[in-house]
Amino acid sequence: MSIKENFEYIKSEIAKAAERSGRSADDVMLLAVTKLHSPDEMNEVIDAGAADIGENKVQEVLAKYDYVKPARWHLIGHLQTNKVRQIIDKVVMIQSVDSLHLAKEIEKRAAQAGITMDILIQVDPAEQETKFGLDPSELDALIKSIAEECPHVYVKGLMAIAPFVDDPEDARPFFREVKGVFDDCRNKKKNGEEGFDSDNVDMTVLSMGMTNDFRVAVEEGSTMVRVGTAIFGMRNYRSEEK
Ligand SMILES: *Cc1c(COP(=O)(O)O)cnc(C)c1O
Repeated sequence: MSIKENFEYIKSEIAKAAERSGRSADDVMLLAVTKLHSPDEMNEVIDAGAADIGENKVQEVLAKYDYVKPARWHLIGHLQTNKVRQIIDKVVMIQSVDSLHLAKEIEKRAAQAGITMDILIQVDPAEQETKFGLDPSELDALIKSIAEECPHVYVKGLMAIAPFVDDPEDARPFFREVKGVFDDCRNKKKNGEEGFDSDNVDMTVLSMGMTNDFRVAVEEGSTMVRVGTAIFGMRNYRSEEK
């Protein structure tokens, strides 16, 4: 199947899963994850209708940026503070913020560029060995600090990466837990709790679900899935090491 056919198939699968969760296809965004794929492949998915693309490394964004048709780039991988400057004017969203230190650097660079930057806070209730992602118990404090200290940073919601399991059903409890954390945040926003009442805290996006588990993630309330392999095929990791 072509990239276009795969993209359309995934969209239809998202629509079905959204329906199963009592929502419509429009409630769930498909982010095409293009890491380790060529600008030609990226342009193919953009021609197929992908408006949003995701990369996990700054150097890859920079290497491919000029060769790819206009699209909304998202950074979805761990971001070192010393690289924020290089991508502040290239991405529309940074999905992997898990510390105030990083949020403050984004604040500084966004202010310098005269823009605001949308972010998601990466949470990890499973406390995996990945070492990235915030323990949900630290979420309120981080949001309060960003609300106070980072007026150029817009907290749009949460991102999470489920532990890898063979059977996607086994990821369901994880997604349910993250959805619970997300709903807590939305309630705090609704109730005007300190920090959450700020204009730069929005809490409308829940980014969870990848090739292996996006159907379950959507059933459990995801509003954005990040899919690479099911659109482009397997990534060639070896070529990255050259
Ligand atoms: C690579 C990656 C994805 C996409 O993974 P697939 O299994 O290829 O769909 C999603 N999210 C993040 C953070 C990634 O790094």
